Amino acid sequence: MNTVLRNTPDLETLDKRYLFHPFTALADHERNGPMIIVKGEGVWLEDNHGKRYIDGMAGLWCVNVGYGRKEIADAIQHQAVTLPYFHSFSSWTTDTPILLAERLIEMAPVPMSKVFFGQSGSDANDTQVKLVWYYNNARGKPLKKKIIARNRGYHGVTVVAGSLTGMPSLHSGFDLPLSFVRHTTAPYRLWEAEPGMSDEAFTAKLAKDLEDLILAEGPDTVGAVIMEPVMGAGGVIVPPKGYYKAIRAVLDRHDVLLIADEVISGFGRLGTMFGATAMEMQPDLITVAKGITSAYVPLSGCMVSEKVWRGIVDGQATLGAFGHGYTYSAHPLAAAAALANLDIIEKDGLVAQAADRGAFMHRQLQEAFADHPLVGEIRGMGLVGAVEFVAKKQPATRFEPSLKIAARIVKAALARGLITRALPHADTISFSPPFVISEDEIAQMVSRAREAVDAVM
Ligand code: PLP
Repeated sequence: MNTVLRNTPDLETLDKRYLFHPFTALADHERNGPMIIVKGEGVWLEDNHGKRYIDGMAGLWCVNVGYGRKEIADAIQHQAVTLPYFHSFSSWTTDTPILLAERLIEMAPVPMSKVFFGQSGSDANDTQVKLVWYYNNARGKPLKKKIIARNRGYHGVTVVAGSLTGMPSLHSGFDLPLSFVRHTTAPYRLWEAEPGMSDEAFTAKLAKDLEDLILAEGPDTVGAVIMEPVMGAGGVIVPPKGYYKAIRAVLDRHDVLLIADEVISGFGRLGTMFGATAMEMQPDLITVAKGITSAYVPLSGCMVSEKVWRGIVDGQATLGAFGHGYTYSAHPLAAAAALANLDIIEKDGLVAQAADRGAFMHRQLQEAFADHPLVGEIRGMGLVGAVEFVAKKQPATRFEPSLKIAARIVKAALARGLITRALPHADTISFSPPFVISEDEIAQMVSRAREAVDAVM
């Protein structure tokens, strides 16, 4: 198959003619055309011209067990032959989603009761909002509908999830956010803390900002807050110690639910199975996707606490049967892929490996970038990291956006055989490689990144 693709003379032309690319500067794409990946093995990718790259981003923070895992391919093939599909509406289901749901509930970072499956992180976050609304309707609190997310948070792009996402460039052009969404301050020390502020003082400020917002809106109108344990696409932002304890105290005071968006952090990325454990977060609902199948097949899930589950079930007496679900909810093939993926993670000890290799990556990033005059911050946890560049360190001053510093570094890295990512609204490049990356490959990744930076500034 790949040989055929590689020999096709005008794949680039066909792409430009027919494929509508997501998250792409479309006019530039019409001029420059696509980059076409045809093969992957471990942390390495190969394009249609035979050029090899280290995938420093595991695709989009998701191919956690690496490319070419035969065990997952075998599980998918076996399921496709045995039973490719049957639905889960009206009490029907198939076997693999049941086994996967049991496994997820057993491994959940805090006690959880049920799992609702979807296909993507975006649709799962839409489902979470509907669960919060249904729950509050069921318990006679129909006004408690506003959802608070954070500036720079990333929760997806569907109409609801895209509204939760706190990035103005993903709103403009689409008439978002929807009216029930509010955003609060991100725990982004570089730009939101006063100079010299302690973790305690910064946490207190962030908790106060959230509480002030809830009070201004009216606690009776606020249903839930959604937060990534460590913010990913918004800049790889790690909150200060004690942050989620302070946030939870605010939410408990005002009867507001907490949704942990573990789409990136779930299944080992931060060096613990779930980000909620690493960050001492106590959510009522948890969103998972990406790493659940290492992206071999699309799958997402909403884990629901017993309190919310019971409220929804009891609400049926007045609200009627639960009228929400996708054709592909609890897809047996996706669940089979997830089970095989979780087997690999457990059998190969990949969570501990992510912690270990992550510590190595952070040491390498420090060595390569700490003394750079234009590096404002080096951040991360486990196997996710970021370097943010500033025009001036003291006081921290951003580059002119038109300079597109991060995008230029990413392009220079690509020329050196490294895939990294420029994060929106920040002069930041990120690293989120597969957990199977070796120390030698990490060293290559970081040195290629440093060469790219030196080529740009
Ligand atoms: N939530 C988080 C934290 C994410 O990082 C993403 C995607 O990057 C999403 C939700 C949306 O997931 P999807 O792109 O599968 O819809």
